[in-house]
Amino acid sequence: MITKNTIVSLGYRLTNAEGQELDKADSSQPLSYLHGHRQIVPGLENALEGMLVGDKKEVSLSPEEGYGQIIPDLRLKLPRTQFPEEMEIAPGLQFEANLGDNRHIFTIIGEEGDDVKIDGNHPLAGQSLNFSVEVLAIRPATDEEIQHGHSHDGDSHH
Ligand code: ZN
Repeated sequence: MITKNTIVSLGYRLTNAEGQELDKADSSQPLSYLHGHRQIVPGLENALEGMLVGDKKEVSLSPEEGYGQIIPDLRLKLPRTQFPEEMEIAPGLQFEANLGDNRHIFTIIGEEGDDVKIDGNHPLAGQSLNFSVEVLAIRPATDEEIQHGHSHDGDSHH
């Protein structure tokens, strides 16, 4: 059963309110995560609690339960001169930067005159999300995984 500190392997299909497919994973390359450590969006994690191997579920999340609402203040226009000269300004390119106390991943939207338009919102912020999930496997997490706060399945970071 999925409870805190289990490693869960999931197959899923993610669609938006318009039914467009945004992402998916199946048994050939399932999503593996450590349950109870906010590795996945809160609404999905709550919905998975208590499920068993083989269980399937349709989970519909509001933006708040998913990647949050769009924060207009994270949509910025900065002079090109504030970016390193050698940095390529290409739409879709991402970089990390501190804003106040928080670290955000910004995506370059494009250039407008001498300015660069960037967006620090998650690409899925503001969207209602529909997950169709199937639980493929569940196992207890190792002490190391709990310490690290993530699953080590298919992992190469060590
Ligand atoms: Zn680790």
